[in-house]
Amino acid sequence: MKAALLEQFNQPLNITTTADPQLPSDGVIVKVNVCGVCRSDWHGWKGTNPLIARPHVPGHEFAGVVVATGPDCKHINIDDRVTAPVIMGCGSCPTCRAGQLTICDTQHVIGFTGWGAFAEYVAVPYADTNVVKLPPALDDDVAAALGCRTTTAFAAVVDRAQVKAGESLAVHGCGGVGLSAVAIGAAVGATVIAVDINNEKLQLAKTAGATHVINAREVDDVPSAIRDLTGGGANASVEALGVTETFQNSLRCLAKFGRHVQIGQPLDEHATPMIPLLETVYYRQLAILGSRGLSAHRFSALFDLIASGRLNMQQLFGKRITLEQVSDVFYQMDNHEDVGITLIDTI
Ligand SMILES: [Zn+2]
Ligand SMILES: [Zn+2]
Repeated sequence: MKAALLEQFNQPLNITTTADPQLPSDGVIVKVNVCGVCRSDWHGWKGTNPLIARPHVPGHEFAGVVVATGPDCKHINIDDRVTAPVIMGCGSCPTCRAGQLTICDTQHVIGFTGWGAFAEYVAVPYADTNVVKLPPALDDDVAAALGCRTTTAFAAVVDRAQVKAGESLAVHGCGGVGLSAVAIGAAVGATVIAVDINNEKLQLAKTAGATHVINAREVDDVPSAIRDLTGGGANASVEALGVTETFQNSLRCLAKFGRHVQIGQPLDEHATPMIPLLETVYYRQLAILGSRGLSAHRFSALFDLIASGRLNMQQLFGKRITLEQVSDVFYQMDNHEDVGITLIDTI
């Protein structure tokens, strides 16, 4: 099959022909129609994700058609149009049986612990538990764009922070997952304040439903600006970059009893940031929540939000590219120059 192979970190992917993926007995093979390019692919390409062993095929935000099913896969069929969460639970351990697939101890992280979907075909294990059939009205490009970013944002805003209509939500960082958090916050009826340093991204955040936007380079103090706009602080705040400064801003912008949700992956020096504990968590009695992925059985709630018309994914789309152009997008991500959701639709 044709695939984009990561052989050397921080170097262009090698577009080449490799062996087709092996069919897991409990899994399926999916012919990839569309695949998103995510910042976590970029982290893997930079060499900061310890899960990746080279040579490697990245890519975890796919939509496609099932072309083969293993003997132990009972509920997914050939020709089903599908996607799957980036974090796949085994389906049989106690946490999976309790419905919490994203914290499974033996999770398969597609495009990280195994080869991903920057290729013609991708193998998906634990298929009965994790493969999500797409509703007929949901296009492949929308399903791919949900990828990990919108599903992660949905889990963060709806399931973890439990943001309700009439509340205020701050979103720090308007890359793919941040923009998705803005759109989901707006879709559930929250007042959304979006923060970034790129006016093009802030414009897209407005389109996605942000009530207010803040260019962090143009204000002295981001938390104060948010506290002024919200009359005392946001009810919930999402950090979508994995950067110490925005993490601290997210905590400091919150109202009493506010909920911080960490969805940016804090790597390297950002892995162990200083926490303004006394001012925020202690006196304001804040909650610090982590959010990573969305269990397959929750996708239907996200599909419902799209079907209701309150969440328009197309407005978040950025560039359409070929597999050959993925490396160019990674180089743009070095400088946060990528805007909107980039989709590979020619493989
Ligand atoms: Zn499990
Ligand atoms: Zn991702």
